Amino acid sequence: MDRIKKLLDNQERSGKMLVRRDLELTQANEKLRELDAQKSEFISVVAHQLRTPLSGLKWTLRMITSGELGPLSPDQKAFLEKSYDSNERMIALVNDMLGANRLESGKLQYNFVPMDITTLVDSVLFDMKAEAKRKGIKISVSKEENLPLVEADPEKIRQVFQNLLENAIKYTIKDGDIEIKIKRDGDFLLISVSDRGIGIPQEQQVNIFTRFFRGANAVKMETDGSGLGLFVVKNLIEKHRGKTWFESEVGEGSTFYFTLGA
Ligand code: ADP
Repeated sequence: MDRIKKLLDNQERSGKMLVRRDLELTQANEKLRELDAQKSEFISVVAHQLRTPLSGLKWTLRMITSGELGPLSPDQKAFLEKSYDSNERMIALVNDMLGANRLESGKLQYNFVPMDITTLVDSVLFDMKAEAKRKGIKISVSKEENLPLVEADPEKIRQVFQNLLENAIKYTIKDGDIEIKIKRDGDFLLISVSDRGIGIPQEQQVNIFTRFFRGANAVKMETDGSGLGLFVVKNLIEKHRGKTWFESEVGEGSTFYFTLGA
């Protein structure tokens, strides 16, 4: 009898302990959610506060560089152009931070419509032609005939494709070709962007979709970036119920894939 009583007492104690732990975990979770919301709010306020003076600076620099306010020596012009580029990079970083923050906080609005992915690809290519040419990179596109429309938000898919193509150009040192393929894959469209760039070291491959992660390959190359591009790509494609993945080998290049429901 004594043994049974002891067992029952033990069971009751364990039960109470579990309830207490459960409560502690719920409270810790709430605290974490609160901290996360505060962090998002902080990033949003800082980014918005930075954007206004950076935009002001952009127009001032542009006006002085253009010579509207008086003639400039070649040295002065060169320094001002450098400052303009740095300012542009800061604006891009702030915009990336705001975009990723909005995405994470679930505040992004989606406007799903039937869209033609090939038109969008052509338009992004047009915007990036100059940068690719500057690095001696040729971009080819192969598309299957009669591709169906996809139900997607064109602005978000533009962002996805732009981030992938920007990376393909950025992480190619020079002269490598880039190939874009669009084809059907069952009920999906499969879009891939292949480059012959520096490739991603095996041990870093698990991290590259993580927010703010920049690979040692990228840092070594001294390229600009916030480490937010692929985080944004993966999240936007997930919101479209598609998938994102990649294959990469150091020195050989990388191929990034994403799918969209047809
Ligand atoms: P960012 O380019 O701003 O660093 P991303 O989120 O777009 O950030 O990419 C994360 C990391 O993945 C990069 O820092 C780089 O190490 C690696 N990466 C992405 N795309 C490529 C690519 N096409 N070739 C080689 N490395 C890449």
